[in-house]
Amino acid sequence: MRGMEGIDGGGKAGKLSRPERILREIVSESIPVMAQIIQELAEETLESTKEYLKNLIGMPEKREELVGLQNRLERRSDLSKEALSKCQKDQLEILVAVKMGLASFISGKVKLPPNELVEIFLYMRCRNVNCKSILPVDDCDCKFCSANKGFCSSCMCPVCMNFDCANNTCSWVGCDVCSHWCHAACGIQKNLISPGPSLKGPKGTTEMQFHCIGCNHASEMFGFVKDVFVCCAKDWGLETLVRELDCVGKIFKGSDDFKGKELHVKAEELLSKLENKIIFPSDACNIIIQFFNYADSISDFPASSVSAKELMPTEASLRKDDAPLPPATLPPKYAFYNMNSSSGRRDSLNDHHRNNLKAALLGN
Ligand SMILES: [Zn+2]
Ligand SMILES: [Zn+2]
Ligand SMILES: [Zn+2]
Ligand SMILES: [Zn+2]
Repeated sequence: MRGMEGIDGGGKAGKLSRPERILREIVSESIPVMAQIIQELAEETLESTKEYLKNLIGMPEKREELVGLQNRLERRSDLSKEALSKCQKDQLEILVAVKMGLASFISGKVKLPPNELVEIFLYMRCRNVNCKSILPVDDCDCKFCSANKGFCSSCMCPVCMNFDCANNTCSWVGCDVCSHWCHAACGIQKNLISPGPSLKGPKGTTEMQFHCIGCNHASEMFGFVKDVFVCCAKDWGLETLVRELDCVGKIFKGSDDFKGKELHVKAEELLSKLENKIIFPSDACNIIIQFFNYADSISDFPASSVSAKELMPTEASLRKDDAPLPPATLPPKYAFYNMNSSSGRRDSLNDHHRNNLKAALLGN
């Protein structure tokens, strides 16, 4: 297996494939020199270089080689805004893809204007092509946004620093105050989701909360997952419903309060019934939503003499009840990706532009 020693050692350079060599040159050579060379490359050579990079990004076993290229970029001091704006289009896309470790910039599916690519490269804009927010989002000066280059509070998780296109889900939890988001799984792993003193209830009672890394605020979780289910569960298939119930079960696992404990039990119970095909997804969906409404309608803090069974309606009685779902407002992340989906235009203008550029440069 070839490592990064090939690029410096010289001895192994002869073994490099053409796309591999071109990629290394783009990462190492000065911008004007490579811009000129790329102009003269055949279209298929350029395509095979992008293909090679896509594999590098997509295959975990190639990670070391990608990191080698990233380190090399990191060491360069000539990649200013001005210098980058003189890049040839494919050159710029390749540089951004290497630096961010994301194939979306060379996929051909989303073509970003050069100024946006430059801003992404310089961490001035979010690298998620479905987001592209100017950073820091809303000029946030929280300790997390200001300390982490390239972090986007609209779409990234502060624990793992990743983003995904998940929406309408309990797998991301949000802060009520600063609207920063976090994977539920990451939050659980880092103990950011845990029981805390109830914000609205009587003194001494607790509820499950998400503790925000950005602003230290604790956001209540029961109402949050309720909103997600009430708004979105009717559109979920079996697979999504199972995944979401599993997530709810995990979020409320360590609950100290009655509602949280009951929700944990309910989610686990429905999960096992769904997995054993004892109930239909639509019934499970109705049962959990009715549970949410019921739990909110009763006292949050029942006397200890009242057993959970007495408080909970039976499933048979729930199934009969086909009351329409109450409206609820969605937290920001839910509308987010939908809002941006129209920006994923694919246009042939960029090829046109490139050809013009090529012709212009070669004509000089
Ligand atoms: Zn922030
Ligand atoms: Zn973003
Ligand atoms: Zn995460
Ligand atoms: Zn916050």
